[in-house]
Amino acid sequence: MMSDGLVIHHLSVGPLQVNCFLVACPKTHDAMVVDPGEDGDRILKLANQEGLKIVKVVNTHCHFDHIGANRQLIEATGAELLLHAADQPLLAQARSQAATFGLSAEPSPEPDRLLDQGDTFDVGELTFKVFHVPGHSPGGICLLSEGHLFVGDVLFAGSIGRTDLPGGDFDALVSGVRGRLFSLPDETIVHPGHGPDTTIGQERRMNPFVGDRA
Ligand SMILES: [Zn+2]
Ligand SMILES: [Zn+2]
Repeated sequence: MMSDGLVIHHLSVGPLQVNCFLVACPKTHDAMVVDPGEDGDRILKLANQEGLKIVKVVNTHCHFDHIGANRQLIEATGAELLLHAADQPLLAQARSQAATFGLSAEPSPEPDRLLDQGDTFDVGELTFKVFHVPGHSPGGICLLSEGHLFVGDVLFAGSIGRTDLPGGDFDALVSGVRGRLFSLPDETIVHPGHGPDTTIGQERRMNPFVGDRA
């Protein structure tokens, strides 16, 4: 998919069907991988087919289903790993997190850079802005560039992330979505960590947890 100067490829990865995004600058062909939960071989093959150079891996948060191929991608490409400091404890607990679901997980390398509210980073000539929205996990972040917002498990089409896992906080999640994400333009395209895309306007109007009617 090519839109508004952003190249976006989507893969559904792992047993929990995480949306992994390969997002690239159309000019330089530098790319970042958002949430490589598993299936590193498929992600690398796709990048190779498309002629993209993976320079960054970004975890919207560090639940095991979003980080499982971090190590493989970073070892294969030398990409930098970026995530929020408040989820570093989760990163270190990938194995035990997965075990509670009866699954296994590959430990991740440590991050190269920690991101926080208002930070920016570049991928080629694209600039991404970071929104910190805790509540699904303490270090949940959303990434905005060119009208596209990658939200992990913060916000879904018609729902929000669960808040019953360790570090979860329903009130923080609701106020973070309303305060930080719903100030974005209605037409902003939202790419959640599971399930279909949506828009900020759609969720502001219709979402039963955080929308106007909640
Ligand atoms: Zn999660
Ligand atoms: Zn998830």
